[in-house]
Amino acid sequence: MTLLGDEITRAESLAEVAELIRGCERCRLCQGRTHTVPGEGNPRARLMCIGEGPGANEDETGRPFVGAAGKLLDQILGAIDCPRESVFIANIVKCRPPQNRKPLPDEATACLSFLHRQIALVQPTVLLAMGGTAAEWLLGVKQSLGHLRNQVHRYGSIPLVVTYHPAALLRNPNWKKPTWDDVRIARQLLEL
Ligand code: SF4
Repeated sequence: MTLLGDEITRAESLAEVAELIRGCERCRLCQGRTHTVPGEGNPRARLMCIGEGPGANEDETGRPFVGAAGKLLDQILGAIDCPRESVFIANIVKCRPPQNRKPLPDEATACLSFLHRQIALVQPTVLLAMGGTAAEWLLGVKQSLGHLRNQVHRYGSIPLVVTYHPAALLRNPNWKKPTWDDVRIARQLLEL
């Protein structure tokens, strides 16, 4: 089914967005998926966490951030008193890119309408972009993560903080300290 952007914009609930994603063939990533991974969490979340795209575990289960990176994300969220069930977690693309490669520009572009609609429906107080891909597509800028983190950006009127993707932290534990600094900024924004 080729969805038009209008149909996505008209979706009135997160469940309706997830249903549209389930049948989506807007980009080539539909060809290799086992399950779509629309995102999940509190529909009234004050914090929304955005990653890059589903990996093997996510494709298998249809859920975002399961597996080792998901466990680490749970720990990070717990450390700022935002347990997973209180937040909404989603990705830039909703189907797994082959070999976990970065989504191609046309794939991210095709999929972004879903995320924009999810953000509009959840209306979070703060957005946390995890990793360079999430930052790039939410902010519309192409800069290094080191340059973008540790400050407050805007997605429309919503404050947005950029930090490392949990999967990157698993590869490089030296990034844990800066990640902690970033999520504390997000926590402080929630308290304003
Ligand atoms: S990645 Fe997004 S745009 Fe591409 S097929 Fe999946 S849901 Fe559709």
